Amino acid sequence: PLVLGIETSCDETGVGIVRGHTLLADAVASSVDEHARFGGVVPEVASRAHLEAMVPTIDRALKDAGVAASDLDGIAVTAGPGLAGALLVGVSAAKAYAYALGKPMYGVNHLASHICVSQLEFGAMPEPTMALLVSGGHSSLLLSPDITSDVRPLGATIDDAAGEAFDKIARVLGLGFPGGPFIDKAAREGDPSAIRFPRGLTGPRDAPFDFSFSGLKTSVARWVEAKRAAGENVPVADVAASFQEAVADVLTMKAVKACKAEGVDHLMIGGGVAANSRLRAMAERRCEDAGIELRVPRPKLCTDNGAMVAALGAEMVARGRGPSSWDLSADSSLPVTETHVPGHHHH
Ligand code: ATP
Ligand code: MG
Ligand code: FE
Repeated sequence: PLVLGIETSCDETGVGIVRGHTLLADAVASSVDEHARFGGVVPEVASRAHLEAMVPTIDRALKDAGVAASDLDGIAVTAGPGLAGALLVGVSAAKAYAYALGKPMYGVNHLASHICVSQLEFGAMPEPTMALLVSGGHSSLLLSPDITSDVRPLGATIDDAAGEAFDKIARVLGLGFPGGPFIDKAAREGDPSAIRFPRGLTGPRDAPFDFSFSGLKTSVARWVEAKRAAGENVPVADVAASFQEAVADVLTMKAVKACKAEGVDHLMIGGGVAANSRLRAMAERRCEDAGIELRVPRPKLCTDNGAMVAALGAEMVARGRGPSSWDLSADSSLPVTETHVPGHHHH
């Protein structure tokens, strides 16, 4: 199926077009530069930027894909979770285009989309799929027998998300926003074993598949403060590398453990933090050692984009899932278990 996907849950206006598992277009307009000076995404600024970027980004995606809107089999849109006002722009646009074109509309879950995007790079997802979802707002281990209808959380962060920790530590170190790519870059010049930062929730009595990054964050901040208080230089590269090592260590260790516990020989990693070079390298090595096939999409498909939404939409069409109803609304706290928002009455 030929599906256009619209993503506006945060600060990226993403419009992607796929045909089944084939990526045809991935247009992204970001308002990140407008938020950088605030050190975080400003919801009203994001909503306004989505409004301005929406039509041009849809036009660009159609042009890049070389398809006509009339040829589409459906339009998918992120219904949640995310920023309420930002989501609403995407949902409204999807409704307007779908209604005007006479196409079915599918309101889908942003988090399930972060997982389903792997199909664009690796083909059909194995079922069940074990997924490590690590993004700006979430860090979870998920087992999914069918990404269009069934996602089961095995564990999740009990405090900060991994991406949130990257963003906060970048701020502590005086690096840019969002922090992940800056830490990744700084860490390349650093020694990952320079400082031993804590690995949260890895004790024998801790929940095996839950995560905690707030202790790590505090520990790094205290370490940096102590250096500054002593009038010493902060070795930014070493701190970045050691922090990144602690995050990658816990994430990959627990993901491999979850695969073994569930008898699954595949691991998929998705979400913005999956773009992290150290996480990718460590996952590769540990999965190889454990006989697990690893699927991590290219970095551009890990951070927010419309292609991931289109990928899940195409899967919904392929599996004959019904479209959402025209009263579809955005749900800023849509749980990960709700892969899509079904329609109660179609016409
Ligand atoms: P969610 O998907 O949970 O709703 P989100 O959509 O805001 O949150 P994503 O776009 O999936 O999040 O990911 C953004 C996060 O990924 C940010 O916290 C950012 O710092 C992080 N990130 C991006 N690139 C990297 C990288 N190379 N290394 C580490 N973190 C990264
Ligand atoms: Mg973003
Ligand atoms: Fe995301």
